[in-house]
Formats: sequence, C-alpha cells, structure tokens
Amino acid sequence: EEAAQQVATIADKVLGAFFPPFQLGEHEFHGGASIGVTLFREEHLSLDVLIGQADSAMYRAKSEGGNLVRFFDAALQAALLERSAFEADLRQSIHRNQLKLVYQPQCRLDGRIFGAEALLRWQHPELGLVPPARFIPLAEEDNFIVELGRWVMREACQTLAELAQDSATRHLIIAVNVSPRQFLQPAFVSEVHDLLQLTGAAPGRLKLELTESIFARDIDDIAQKMQALHALGVSFSLDDFGTGYSCLAYLKKLPFDQIKIDQMFVRELPNEPHDAAIVHAVIALSKSLEIAVIAEGVETVAQRDFLDHNGCRDFQGYLFSHPVDKPELMQLLAAATV
Ligand code: C2E
Ligand code: MG
Ligand code: MG
Repeated sequence: EEAAQQVATIADKVLGAFFPPFQLGEHEFHGGASIGVTLFREEHLSLDVLIGQADSAMYRAKSEGGNLVRFFDAALQAALLERSAFEADLRQSIHRNQLKLVYQPQCRLDGRIFGAEALLRWQHPELGLVPPARFIPLAEEDNFIVELGRWVMREACQTLAELAQDSATRHLIIAVNVSPRQFLQPAFVSEVHDLLQLTGAAPGRLKLELTESIFARDIDDIAQKMQALHALGVSFSLDDFGTGYSCLAYLKKLPFDQIKIDQMFVRELPNEPHDAAIVHAVIALSKSLEIAVIAEGVETVAQRDFLDHNGCRDFQGYLFSHPVDKPELMQLLAAATV
C-alpha cells in the first residue's frame, strides 16, 4: 500500500506536468496522459506480463475519461480511491463542524482533578467517530495538520476561558497535543500568543504536549520557541516518553515541566519486571531533574499503587476517567477539583 501511495503521488506529478499548454511554432497545444500502473513483489512475472498489466490499467484510465492514473490491481485501486476520499473528507472536517475535543481528566491519587488532556475526535457522517490514530498521521503528511492544530488550540483556549469563569474550575490545566510540523511553523509562538489574547485564556493554564519525534528536528529552534512560550507562562509536557527518539541530553537542553510515562510501560505493571524497572527509573530521573511526572493509561488499582509507591503522584487513565465531552467534564469538575 505504501508503494502504491508513492507511485500515485509520482504519477499525479507526471500528469500535472502534462497539464500546462505548450507552444509548437505558432500554435498552442494541450497535452494529456493516461497512466497505467502495476506493482510486483516477489513473484517473478515476466516483463511482458507486467507491461501487459500496466497496459490494461492504462486502457482503463482512458476509458474512464483519460488524464487519470489507474492501477491494475482492482483492490489496490479501490483502496487508493477510498483513501483519497477519506483525505478529501478530512480537509472538509473543520468547516463542516465535524471536529470536537474530548477531555480526559488528570488526577491525584485520591481522584481530585487538576487538569485534563484535550483529545481530538472526528465525527464522520458515514464512518462514525474516527479515532485520531486514523487521521492525525494522514494530516501530518502535509500542512493540513497545521490547520487542524490551530483549530484544536483555539477550542482548548476557549474552554480555558470558560473554566476561568468559575472559581471552582479556574485552576484547571488543559494539555494540548502539538504535532512537530505544527510546532515548527515559524509563526507558532505568535499564533499561540494571539489566541491566548483573543480568548482571554490564562497562559499559565495551558500545557503543550510534545512527543519525542520532535527531537529529530532543529533543536535550537525548538528550544527557542519553548523559551518564548515559557516566557508567556505556557508549560510543556513530554508525551510518550521512552517510546521514540529518547535522548536524555535533550531533557537537559529543553525546558520541559513534565514527563508523561507512556501507557506502553504502564500496561503490564506491576508484574512485568522490565517495565517496572523502566518506570521506577523514569520517576527517579524526573525527580532528580526536578521535572514533574504523570503516568498515562492507568487502568487498574495495582498499576496506580505501583506508580504511587515509586513516587508518581499524577495519573491519567480509564481507572480515573475516560475522555469525556465538555459538559461532562464540567460535571466531573463540580464534584472533584483540586
Ligand atoms: P496521546 O497524547 O498519548 O493520548 C493518550 C491516548 O491514550 C488517548 O487516545 C487516550 O484516549 C488513550 N487513553 C487514555 N487513558 C487510557 C487507558 O487507561 N487505557 C488505554 N488503553 N488508553 C487510554 P486517543 O484519544 O485515541 O489519542 C491517540 C493519540 O492521538 C494521542 O496520543 C495523540 O498523540 C494524538 N492526538 C489526539 N488528539 C490530538 C490533537 O489534538 N493534536 C495532535 N497533534 N495529536 C492528537
Ligand atoms: Mg498526549
Ligand atoms: Mg501519550
């Protein structure tokens, strides 16, 4: 599927190159092309067979009107069409009002809520509720993630401003996931600044979650942006700690306020000895670096107790609460705020 996707991208570029009119002598000409593609893997198909397959795909492209790319494999063709429809729908999701944020409480041991992570949901008219794992990676392939991220940030700031209306919820911190591509936008800092001003949200209540994949980028640029946002009062959490490009040197270089222990390490606590050792070490590390630590994906009392005994005081997971929508969050808060 990945190969097909790459071929489709290249074939589209080739078609695009045919599109502009060209001059032959005094005459302007318009060209076009129909492209047939076949893919092969280990099978030792002869060249003739492969060309034959591509040829028949090309005739399909022509018969469907030309200036098209078609694949020999019907299933592949269907999958590609489905994907491009999905992507087209995704691009419409913002102005069709299909997006919403849900909030997962972040709690102390006794269940009191001190914050919530904003998690994006897409309500698709036919597919139902699409989880972010299915569409964030697609959005991350191009700049659409920037638009999506902007929408999330605005929503989250709006919620913060609403929470500030009530003395019982004013202290709540909202954590927002930020993709590397979004964070690396030159205007990211000023956009966040403007949104905070516009909505009246308190910067000290906004926490940005960055994942380790950001370490693969220009570290000086990241540090500079983090410092600029810190100066506004915004804080930072390192999401999915230990699952990606963990480089401990970056922890020293970048001003993170919190480390999130990934659910991958929490899942089999307390019995899996390696996970237990890693979690123990991460908590100790955060203590000595004076960075706060929170565990995510906490589902059982045994997991919570292991984390607590090892010095982790903040928790997020189904044991405490599933992600809930805003009205439900408000209800939970009325009952259990720090
Ligand atoms: P994440 O930031 O690590 O979010 C935690 C994920 O774990 C969420 O899944 C949450 O619903 C799930 N979770 C929470 N507690 C438990 C638990 O006790 N057990 C289990 N098994 N799972 C739990 P979700 O909402 O599907 O989000 C998946 C990922 O999508 C997020 O991982 C984040 O990387 C990304 N994402 C979500 N919203 C946004 C967004 O607004 N912007 C960006 N860039 N990424 C987002
Ligand atoms: Mg997160
Ligand atoms: Mg995470």
